Amino acid sequence: MATKRVYNFSAGPSMLPLEVLEKAGSEITSYRGSGQSVMEMSHRSKVFLSIFNKTKEDFARLFAVPDDYEILFLQGGATLEFAAAPMNLMTRTGKADYAITGSFADKALKEAKKYGSVNISATTAGCNHTRIPSQSELTLDPDASYFYYCANNTIEGTEWHYIPDTGRVPIVCDMSSNIMSYPVDVSKFGIIFAGAQKNLAPAGVTVVVIRKDLLGAAFPYTPVMLDLAAMVKDDSMHNTPPCWAIYMLGLVLEWVEENGGVANMEANRNLRSSIIYDCIDNSKLFRCPAQKDARSGMNVTFLSGNDELDKKFIAEAQEAGFVNIGGHRSVGGMRASMYNAMPIEGAEKLADFIKSFEKRNA
Ligand SMILES: *Cc1c(COP(=O)(O)O)cnc(C)c1O
Repeated sequence: MATKRVYNFSAGPSMLPLEVLEKAGSEITSYRGSGQSVMEMSHRSKVFLSIFNKTKEDFARLFAVPDDYEILFLQGGATLEFAAAPMNLMTRTGKADYAITGSFADKALKEAKKYGSVNISATTAGCNHTRIPSQSELTLDPDASYFYYCANNTIEGTEWHYIPDTGRVPIVCDMSSNIMSYPVDVSKFGIIFAGAQKNLAPAGVTVVVIRKDLLGAAFPYTPVMLDLAAMVKDDSMHNTPPCWAIYMLGLVLEWVEENGGVANMEANRNLRSSIIYDCIDNSKLFRCPAQKDARSGMNVTFLSGNDELDKKFIAEAQEAGFVNIGGHRSVGGMRASMYNAMPIEGAEKLADFIKSFEKRNA
């Protein structure tokens, strides 16, 4: 392609693999001889159902989803699942446990409070969410309807590197910003959900994986679109599904498969993030706010401690083709989000840029 592409370090929506974009481009006016775009098809048509079913099968295989789980492709983003989780599960005992390790977990907590009584199992607010609580720090209620946590804190740049042991209490986990970047033992979870626009697809589809025995307990006033049992019954097609985003998800999953599967996604994420962390650890100008054992493999946050210098870095990086590297407006500094589609070369070139910036500003 003639068009120059930038290294996009956006936290989301984020980079998609070039091969996927080109494939979608080549099929945009007529999908595989159908004479129509996926954007124009009936979601009930045979041709779309074949896309839908293959995408679901590919997701199940790549993410190793056991048979006693359902996979849903919904709308409303991860944020709608903040409400869906309590509305579907809180009826069990009327209370739930939440671990608060960042702003997205905090948003989920605010939703849950509307539907039951919530216990804060742990919070890292006291250190600006720069760390992850250990298992022994979690206050767990054996009678909780579920335990909730956010696996990767997109804004703060921290990540849980273990799955909490909650006994028989089902775990609900927001994996929006690290899904498909490492192998997950799905059998440890009650619900996993992820807005697709970080690691999986363009915005518009939300993946939900739920253990079958948890279905059917929603509050009676739950809107049908939030009732996960109703969504399962109609195979994500109670109403019009996000057809285009599901098709794009399918192309991304094929790309993951062709590129060594989830195991290789993990090797790549470890390599990319360690290139930047090593660079920052060796820098006299910059530092990482996240504690070493809690660092995210997807969102690398760093800062100089001088707002003006950070601004200068962000502007010069943008000029040099490293775009969207400013930290979230709530925390400032820099954030290099490197999801599955970010080439290793993107991390290497960014590290070179950081070093040259440091030389020029020593
Ligand atoms: C981006 C993000 C969200 C919000 O996702 P939407 O799909 O925009 O609702 C929630 N949780 C995490 C961890 C995220 O990274």
